[in-house]
Amino acid sequence: MRRLLGRLVYGHRYDQVPWARRAYVRPGERLIREVQWQRLISRAPVLPLEEYRRLGPPAGEFLACPMCGEDRQQPLYGQDCTVVRCPSCGFLYRNPLTGQERAGGTPPGLRRCELTLRAFSPVLDEGKERRLLDVGPGGGPFLDLAGRLGFHARGARPEDVPGLAGDEEDGFDVITLWSVLERLPRPLDDLRALRRLLAPGGVLLVLTLNARSLLLKAHGPAWPGFAEEHLRFYSSHTIRTLLGRTGFAGVAFAPSYGDAVEDGSGRLPPHLVARLRRTVERGDGGDLLRALAFADEEAIGHWGAPRLAVHRLYG
Ligand SMILES: [Zn+2]
Repeated sequence: MRRLLGRLVYGHRYDQVPWARRAYVRPGERLIREVQWQRLISRAPVLPLEEYRRLGPPAGEFLACPMCGEDRQQPLYGQDCTVVRCPSCGFLYRNPLTGQERAGGTPPGLRRCELTLRAFSPVLDEGKERRLLDVGPGGGPFLDLAGRLGFHARGARPEDVPGLAGDEEDGFDVITLWSVLERLPRPLDDLRALRRLLAPGGVLLVLTLNARSLLLKAHGPAWPGFAEEHLRFYSSHTIRTLLGRTGFAGVAFAPSYGDAVEDGSGRLPPHLVARLRRTVERGDGGDLLRALAFADEEAIGHWGAPRLAVHRLYG
């Protein structure tokens, strides 16, 4: 039905555009999806935790909102999808936790890492012997890249972070979280631990899913970001809450346009690339969220304006 509607409205004009880019380039689609999203939110019931539990989601550990503690939930997509929205702060999260959560996953490839570093240039252009900790499942090309850039780089699994405090007295200058934040069931605890591991002037680089993604709004529960192992979905708004409450002083964002658009390897004609960029920027709707968090005023003073636009955080 959805395909048929798209065909009626747009004909064959966008058949050559990759599926994941179409919502960004078809005229008027962003506004239509925004209206649909607002309608979904206004129609979704607001349920106390007990009532939500009685709806019959799988057994597990039922939680109030991990960001603001709100007890009520908005199940957005019915029984088959356990993603709920907090009616107070708008945070999207999976409820309940079933105990099957896996912290692992596949780290992004080299190109995506390089594009993300470039998006925050010049902060991570050169290592200059700074100490870097990559928190993730291990593997992936990033540690090699960091070494080539001149960082003293090492990796750690998320569950090993609390144990690092003792053997890293000086702290790290840079910590990276590549496609990990969405898998952490208790982000406040984890981010507090990471903040303590940062040296004065340190920064935390985060690549995660974007809860304001236009693709999420277009495809609902079929959005690939809602894969079962993804538990928490941040927007540029809710990640500020998380970082502020865990002791960070500021954050800067870099919109994500997709790898092929950013490195110029895609086949979209220039006018559609321009339209895609406008759509991402106007709706804060890239499929990924890229954030650089600053540990303290020293970090903001070093890397903030005029290089990066820093949003101050108040815990
Ligand atoms: Zn909340």
